[in-house]
Amino acid sequence: MREIDINQLRQEVNRCFLCKKPRCKANCPIETPIPDIIELYKSGEIEKAGEILFNNNPLSAVCGVICPHEDQCLGNCIKGIKDKPIKFHELETYISGEYLKSAKFKQETKLEDRIAIVGSGPAGITLAFILAKRGYKITIFEKNSEIGGVLRYGIPDFRLSREVLDNIEERLLDLNVKIRYNALVGPVLTLDKLLEDGYKAIFIGTGVWNPKPLRIKGESLGHVNYAINYLKSPKSFRLGEKVVIIGAGNVAMDAARTAKYHGAKEVKVVYRKDFEHMTATNAEIEDAKEEGVQFELFKAPVEIVDEGVIFVDTKFIEEDGKTKMVNIEGSEKLMEADSVIIAVSQSPKNNIVSNTENLETNKHGLLVIDDIGHTTREGVFACGDVVTGARTVVEAVAHGKRVADAIDEYCKGK
Ligand SMILES: Cc1cc2nc3c(=O)[nH]c(=O)nc-3n(C[C@H](O)[C@H](O)[C@H](O)COP(=O)(O)OP(=O)(O)OC[C@H]3O[C@@H](n4cnc5c(N)ncnc54)[C@H](O)[C@@H]3O)c2cc1C
Repeated sequence: MREIDINQLRQEVNRCFLCKKPRCKANCPIETPIPDIIELYKSGEIEKAGEILFNNNPLSAVCGVICPHEDQCLGNCIKGIKDKPIKFHELETYISGEYLKSAKFKQETKLEDRIAIVGSGPAGITLAFILAKRGYKITIFEKNSEIGGVLRYGIPDFRLSREVLDNIEERLLDLNVKIRYNALVGPVLTLDKLLEDGYKAIFIGTGVWNPKPLRIKGESLGHVNYAINYLKSPKSFRLGEKVVIIGAGNVAMDAARTAKYHGAKEVKVVYRKDFEHMTATNAEIEDAKEEGVQFELFKAPVEIVDEGVIFVDTKFIEEDGKTKMVNIEGSEKLMEADSVIIAVSQSPKNNIVSNTENLETNKHGLLVIDDIGHTTREGVFACGDVVTGARTVVEAVAHGKRVADAIDEYCKGK
């Protein structure tokens, strides 16, 4: 995580054109009012700027750090055409981080209705803040011992400080939000039980915590791990010196960098296509390279063995006017590894679905919702990764805001 230099921030905001039609805002999934915030900062109204950022995005302090800025505000800054783009996200991180530390939240209105929030990731936190501020009695059920979801149990702390999550928790408690830790909803605490106990609405924001398998021989061997399991508690793992990571999204980059951080000498990210097709951002790839992570491209895994992974070379071909990826027959070769980490996406667990009637999922196990976030079960709403599949924090928050409004209207009987 890069330290923010306040003097540099001042210089940075003075470079902003304060565009009338800001492309940075238009390309932000949550439409952060960037020029307004810069103007407030310049006039010293930092607390007000913090409040606006928070009300627009309760996870602004997180998004400032980990959003894929190169595809959003940074990558669309007009200044970036001829010069360096404005690093608004650094200003956002600073203002929102300070705001979360010192904001005095209080539940002004107190309503009788109870709402259950299942899962304390970005989606659940967003709904908890919005609905608690509107006066609802909120209980968060979280299966882990701390809140944050992927923010705490996926993204390494060298990328996102845990202090910001602790401050979020404090602010939730200020709003009388009750948090039940180590509380898995599904098998024992069923949705039916919550409804029976008087929760007027239930929100499900349980994310995607089942690793997608490669479905190749050797995947269950002792030196093979799935990235999301590894990232949950990297200290528990003894990976050895040579680590092969299969996959090339942000989860793979986090696993590779974490393995390096924890002492692996040689970490190789192996991917079946080229850099351009990787879903990790350029910034993440560059950070991994800087830290000594190596990349092996155009290789697909065929089998995992005790000594490592057998990969086959791949190439693009043109067929029927379409570009296809094919394996090059006979090119199979062993890449030695002490440990193998598989990072090829995730799908939802079915703890809740398998214990609830009339809660529909699609063929990928993702919850089916209507336009406003209502599932097929009356009074049960959902959003975030459990609905969309693995995406980004800001998308979970943006969707969460709309679902919070829908729950509010539902509870008021509109
Ligand atoms: C390693 C990794 C790195 C990432 N890096 C980035 C990044 O840099 N930038 C970015 O924007 N996005 C990133 N993402 C994606 C982003 O974190 C997710 O899109 C986002 O966290 C989704 O939020 P969510 O609230 O839907 O789910 P989650 O964050 O997964 O939270 C779900 C919560 O529900 C809890 N839960 C699950 N089942 C139950 C149950 N039955 N009962 C009670 N609690 C339950 C879980 O413990 C968890 O706390 C990354 C993802 C991973 C895995």
